[in-house]
Amino acid sequence: MTNQLSLAQGREYLAIPGPSVMPDAVLQAMHRPSPNIYDGELIEMMPALLQDLRRVARTDHSVAIYIANGHGTWEAALSNVIAPGETVLAPASGRFTHGWAEMAEGIGAKVEVIDFGMSSPWDIERIADTLRADTSHRIKAILAVHVDTSTSIRNDVPALRALLDDLDHPALLMADCIASLGCDRFEMDAWGVDVTVTACQKGLMTPAGMGFVFFNEKAQAKRATMPRGSQYWDWQPRANPELFYQYFNGTAPTHHLYGLRAALDLIHAEGIEHVWARHECLANAIWAACEVWSEGQALQFNVADRAHRSHAVTALRLTEGRGTPLRQFTESQLGLTLGIGLGMEDWDSCFRLGHMGHVNAQMVMAMLGGVETAMAALDIPRGRGALEAAAATLIT
Ligand SMILES: *Cc1c(COP(=O)(O)O)cnc(C)c1O
Repeated sequence: MTNQLSLAQGREYLAIPGPSVMPDAVLQAMHRPSPNIYDGELIEMMPALLQDLRRVARTDHSVAIYIANGHGTWEAALSNVIAPGETVLAPASGRFTHGWAEMAEGIGAKVEVIDFGMSSPWDIERIADTLRADTSHRIKAILAVHVDTSTSIRNDVPALRALLDDLDHPALLMADCIASLGCDRFEMDAWGVDVTVTACQKGLMTPAGMGFVFFNEKAQAKRATMPRGSQYWDWQPRANPELFYQYFNGTAPTHHLYGLRAALDLIHAEGIEHVWARHECLANAIWAACEVWSEGQALQFNVADRAHRSHAVTALRLTEGRGTPLRQFTESQLGLTLGIGLGMEDWDSCFRLGHMGHVNAQMVMAMLGGVETAMAALDIPRGRGALEAAAATLIT
């Protein structure tokens, strides 16, 4: 296998769960000289850009932009509404909630973590027990990761909202939809989310470097009670700027804004409901193939229950290991880059398929063909007919 001819030339497919595949339209929109940041087109395009961004998040509320990745939006959101000494609750499925919780500790919050491990979604009853015991309303916010990208667990955000309403608990519902916005159904206002954080390099198909925090009046009211806050992360001037530079507290991410404009045009031309449906159909094709492979007893889904799987990333385990050689084979021999087993204790035997954003059926079939080829090359036991099973789901 090692002295085999590489066939990786030609257009590669970065099938990792972010950064995602960038559309040519996004790349072309960014390929231009620097624009004037004091006058003209860039300034004029902002209101429509923000409106179209709100439409993707299904919210009529405020949005602040940051020149930051997802981690930056975690800090931004926290520093607007959580004062040192206040308590936040972190129901953790997978890896990312722990990261957000650590950041909350960093700004002086007390953090209560309920750990659901690396393969299970939230158990709403366990969260209910904690909230019911909190009769003095010590818990000021819940850090709710909608889709955990490391494990591909998708949590039920509306169920968490319903729980808070049932218990009449005033904690802010803060959602991380970095891996789900523009992929899985997410509806900020209808779901009663108070603060939403996201970033541009996943479902929004733009190079990493911009993050967004959406917030409603309830979150703003909490903001107003804060004894003091970070001037840089303050969402107030960013969401209500009098001058253009206040959107970003400094120089605008000029080219990213053009890229995002092109990405939002693609999303709205397709229609967000169709975007969600496409991701679901492609996920079904991928899962059909994985189910057949799993008959060989060497490959397993990390999340057993389809209802709790992301439609944009699928985390898989190889019971006999060899996730690393599998990924190395697809990358060096086939031009297909798969995701590493992020955050897993046995990360070397895990890998992830990224299917978020600008992905269509033929790309998914090619990715599955690449995995089939790598499994054959490594002689990994597997059921036969995986691609046929995937193809069958695409014929409707
Ligand atoms: C990617 C991701 C993050 C981190 O985003 P960065 O841009 O890498 O900082 C956080 N949460 C979730 C759910 C993610 O998918």
